[in-house]
Amino acid sequence: MSFKALQLSNSLLKALSEKNYSVPTPVQESTIPLVLDKKDVIASAQTGTGKTAAFALPILELLISKLDAPKKGKKIRSLIISPTRELAGQIENDFKVYGKYTNLRTAVVFGGTSIEPQKDILKKGVDILVATPGRLLDLHKQDIINLDYIEVLVLDEADLMLDMGFIDDVKKIERLCQKQKQTLLFSATMPYKVEQLANTILKTPERVQISATSSVTKNINQWLYFTPKPKKIELCLHLLRNTIKGNIIIFRRTKFGVDKLEKTLLKNNYNVGSIHGDKTQSARQTALNRFKNKEVNILIATDVAARGLDIDNLDAVINFDMPNVAETYVHRIGRTGRAGNTGISYSFCSADEKDYVLSIQKLIHTTIPVEENHPYPLDPKAKPEVHKKKGSKHRKGRKSAASKKKKKRWY
Ligand code: AMP
Repeated sequence: MSFKALQLSNSLLKALSEKNYSVPTPVQESTIPLVLDKKDVIASAQTGTGKTAAFALPILELLISKLDAPKKGKKIRSLIISPTRELAGQIENDFKVYGKYTNLRTAVVFGGTSIEPQKDILKKGVDILVATPGRLLDLHKQDIINLDYIEVLVLDEADLMLDMGFIDDVKKIERLCQKQKQTLLFSATMPYKVEQLANTILKTPERVQISATSSVTKNINQWLYFTPKPKKIELCLHLLRNTIKGNIIIFRRTKFGVDKLEKTLLKNNYNVGSIHGDKTQSARQTALNRFKNKEVNILIATDVAARGLDIDNLDAVINFDMPNVAETYVHRIGRTGRAGNTGISYSFCSADEKDYVLSIQKLIHTTIPVEENHPYPLDPKAKPEVHKKKGSKHRKGRKSAASKKKKKRWY
């Protein structure tokens, strides 16, 4: 199928051809006709599937067909709610790229940065607004934003929005918009609470299900390292010195963990940046830009800060801490091996994280190969269930007592 067959206007097709998008991705193929048909949609799709264009293109198309006042008198007609500032910025950018040859104006507002410049932009008039929940409500309270004319409301990364405690804000925002609107909900996972939210605010929605959980891992060589928790930093340094090259994201579960690892890597002369929720917006953006521009080749991040970021050409992902939610593993490693490239992931599992590995393996229907040949084994004698992998090409076999003694050569 072509984009033309999806009934998009020439102005959008021109922008798409400049981006070298030749065919729609599955989520775009399924979602675009439904949105153009004014249906509410609940789509289960994660970052990397092309989901931003799946809602941005039909929204632009719907709004092009009845252009509003040229500038100042413009009313916001589409609102996209995003959980993180980075993701909001990325969505705004995508709308601008796809809408380059239209007269539609897109703006973004998010917290952690001065509100005044955002007010000035809004006063000039926008058609499409991308926002994080808190800042949007602030601006609404100050009477800068009028949501009475919203025709299409998008809730992006709904599961993350719930995890981050935005549920009440989201419900409030939905109520502030006019009743007669179309609502689109995108979520990487569909936990019960997301279903519940969808049931309360969507009207007889159409469902789009793009299952990425098993397919996403196809181009990725996954490796599991069992190691004691206190040895993870040494294992990480060892692998960075000897094995892992290129552009790397290292995931940690906590902000504290991100800072600690960054300090150690900087001390060891690595080019590192980091992003997490306690950093100011400008510090996060600077770290991200430096990583994208290849000024630093290692980015350390928490899941929340990194969720949804479109970072191309990653060579490897390190799961420094095993994620306690199995889907998070799929998101993390899905950042490498994109667009037909081969990627590689390294996961460090300490004794207390073994159960997480079991649930990840259940989700992806794969036993992750274990790399036993490294200097910081968890317990060389232990053979837990998750270690067993029949017929793995990568198994090095149990080492002899003599070779174990020689392990010092790794230090
Ligand atoms: P998303 O899932 O929206 O974060 O998109 C992931 C990446 O796919 C982004 O870099 C998009 O620019 C890119 N992309 C989206 N749609 C297409 C398409 N039809 N063909 C090629 N690349 C695309």
